Amino acid sequence: MEQSAAPAIRLEHVSKWFGKLKVLQDVDLTVNRGEHIVLCGPSGSGKSTLIRCINRIEEVQEGRILVDGVELRGDGRNAEDIRRHVGMVFQQFNLFPHMTALENCMLAPRRIHRIGKDEARARAMGHLERVHLADHAQKYPAQLSGGQQQRVAIARALCMNPDILLFDEPTSALDPEMVKEVLDTMVELADAGITMICVTHEMGFARAVAHRVIFMDRGEILESAPPEEFFSAPRHERARTFLGQIL
Ligand code: ADP
Ligand code: MG
Repeated sequence: MEQSAAPAIRLEHVSKWFGKLKVLQDVDLTVNRGEHIVLCGPSGSGKSTLIRCINRIEEVQEGRILVDGVELRGDGRNAEDIRRHVGMVFQQFNLFPHMTALENCMLAPRRIHRIGKDEARARAMGHLERVHLADHAQKYPAQLSGGQQQRVAIARALCMNPDILLFDEPTSALDPEMVKEVLDTMVELADAGITMICVTHEMGFARAVAHRVIFMDRGEILESAPPEEFFSAPRHERARTFLGQIL
């Protein structure tokens, strides 16, 4: 996509319902290029739904979402276009079990960017190196630890050359000893300047890389502040309660 002056992501008055349940309530959010956002809030507050709407895995009923200045169309016809620029990493890594790490990383660029095998392999190896897994490229997911699988999933997302990376609780399914290696990888990506929104309760990560922490509850954004401010002086009672539970 052309680099323009538009923010990386913009949500304007976005509301979403699942049946009668309103899960996003008039959400406004602007994420600038290169900005790192940590999104937190209680379970069920709408964090996953919010980032899934940005990637167009979910549809919104009201409001507008623009990615790099381009509006997601209501009919979903440019969803593929948008997804080319937005990578997503899930809690469950969702790697194909019958494919090696390398093959998992080559798949989408081959199918969607329609690049040749050699180019896809070179690109995949480059990103596997970046997440420090080049030596494991020929292994299948079952032969890798959870932390390694998640780093393959990050490499796979990077292989689409995204401008924006969305992470949905990428370390929540990991054994504690593997959390750090994944967070370290994410810190390296953040340092490289990619735009990110990361749903996580890893507040050390938030302090290290977030420009802003956004706190959601019941479908609403209640706070948006730099980490030092959010952690030391949350304005809402609900944010204080939440922090009391996780810290
Ligand atoms: P969070 O990620 O903050 O835990 P979610 O975005 O997953 O929250 O969920 C927000 C609300 O939407 C919750 O009440 C959840 O039960 C509901 N919800 C999420 N996905 C669906 C779905 N596909 N169908 C119906 N309700 C859903
Ligand atoms: Mg969630």
